Amino acid sequence: MNSDNEIRPGEVVVPWRATEDAGIAFIGRIETPWKTRADCPRQGQMDGPLCQIILDEIWREALTGISRYPQLEVIYWLHLSRRDLVLQCARQDKVPRGTFSLRSPLRPNPIGTSVVKLEAVQDCRLVVRGLDCIDGTPLLDIKPDRHAF
Ligand code: SAM
Repeated sequence: MNSDNEIRPGEVVVPWRATEDAGIAFIGRIETPWKTRADCPRQGQMDGPLCQIILDEIWREALTGISRYPQLEVIYWLHLSRRDLVLQCARQDKVPRGTFSLRSPLRPNPIGTSVVKLEAVQDCRLVVRGLDCIDGTPLLDIKPDRHAF
């Protein structure tokens, strides 16, 4: 386990292994400028750097109509996260907090979501701003921002 997954004083883990399989499959990957977790912003910003969402070719047609939406919700799998913490300390925080009271990437099912600004659609690539994940993070889903509905 690398140092990003070390337990801090006051943190609590449980002896848990994900045994159910929801059948989730990755549909692409996300390219960002950040190579480590420490480099990433805690939350993406709409004026952040350009990032690219690369959808697997088989899903190309599923992008039809997407350019009508200036903002999208992107859902991704925070694949480097440990998944057994029930109490955890945020980066600058010594007080342990419950996992479900945080937007920490360390959670039983490490799903991340960001609302992003759509800058361009280029074939199976979406150029966006507003992400906060490391380069190569697996992609789970893309939806128009809920405020459009
Ligand atoms: N915006 C998402 C949310 O609220 O669901 C994720 C927020 S989480 C606080 C973002 C942090 O997760 C980053 O600052 C980085 O430390 C970490 N992170 C980024 N990509 C990751 C990955 N692929 N696996 C594990 N942790 C990651």
